[in-house]
Amino acid sequence: MKKLLSVLLSFVMVITCFGFGSLTASADTLNRNYFKYAKTITASAPLEMTLDSEAAEEIDRMALLKFVAPETKYYEFVSDTIPEKGYVMSMVIANDSKENCYSGTGAGGVMNGKKHNDFIVAAKLTKGHTYYILFEGKGCGQYTANVHIRSHTHKFDSAYSYSAYIDEEYGYLSDGGKWLPCIYCSVERTEESYYAPKTMALSTYSCYYRGTERVPKVTIKDRKGNVIPVSNYKITCRNNVKPGKATVKVTFNGKKYKGEMTKTFIIKPNSMGTPKVSSPKSKQLKVNWIRNGNVSGYYVQYSTSPKFPNGSSTKGVFIGKNTVGTTTISKLNPGKKYYVRMRAFKTVDGKNYHGSWSKTSSVTVRK
Ligand SMILES: [Zn+2]
Repeated sequence: MKKLLSVLLSFVMVITCFGFGSLTASADTLNRNYFKYAKTITASAPLEMTLDSEAAEEIDRMALLKFVAPETKYYEFVSDTIPEKGYVMSMVIANDSKENCYSGTGAGGVMNGKKHNDFIVAAKLTKGHTYYILFEGKGCGQYTANVHIRSHTHKFDSAYSYSAYIDEEYGYLSDGGKWLPCIYCSVERTEESYYAPKTMALSTYSCYYRGTERVPKVTIKDRKGNVIPVSNYKITCRNNVKPGKATVKVTFNGKKYKGEMTKTFIIKPNSMGTPKVSSPKSKQLKVNWIRNGNVSGYYVQYSTSPKFPNGSSTKGVFIGKNTVGTTTISKLNPGKKYYVRMRAFKTVDGKNYHGSWSKTSSVTVRK
């Protein structure tokens, strides 16, 4: 008998409406396992609050109240009965139609408000619109609920955040941010916005070999054009010592931003030592240089002018191997002084990147 009583609900609602007077509705005791609901509730002006008896017949586990909002603002429905451990209680504000109560489509809802030591559901309601406030309980035993309607003031709890993201491979961008949600309604206050990283620029896309790591300055901008501070990512480089193509990778630390971005730059050969030139035979010029295993080849330029002007007085020899350290140039004007300089090049993706010119050597060609 005691067990049977414990599963019967005695549902009494006392509804207080902004000091317009209090209303009491007593629930009939129904022979249902867990639930019973108030049958009639009559409200005084300006609030219209009635239990929808038609709905009450359809919904046997719920108490459904109809509420027409007297003005447009945030309202909260406060139950002074807080679910005990093991109970499930919920309040839902549904708009437009009763059916929305079943589907869960509504302006707001709360289940087991115990978390915040209260039981409140809140939402912004529009003047003149009809809302259905649904009370549901499961395993609650016998209880009395006093429900008050109040103006709602947001209460913000702890923030949550998402990292802004770039998927470089697929060109996918996603914004992130930090938000403070109201614990009773669906309002969220935006604390911070993180826009997706979009562009990565290097201070230089080509530099010269120095025998040490070359690391260009990196600038990352988000999709709004704001510079993303360096503290959000780390930079790693590959192949960034020897001449060739070097890679700079930025890895975001996952706090405000996540993902990776990469760029490449070219390390060009450094300038060669001064070539040794001689004229061992008539009309010939011989050039010797120190070979360099880090380059793809050499270019030797010779001219009768130390300024190497464009035109027929300046010519060159292309050496497509780095293992060669000498070349002989023939059919030169005998007795004429020739100037020689050279530079190394590195081939990257089919293109030759050359270092700067060496110092100039000169020799007078034998007659
Ligand atoms: Zn709120």
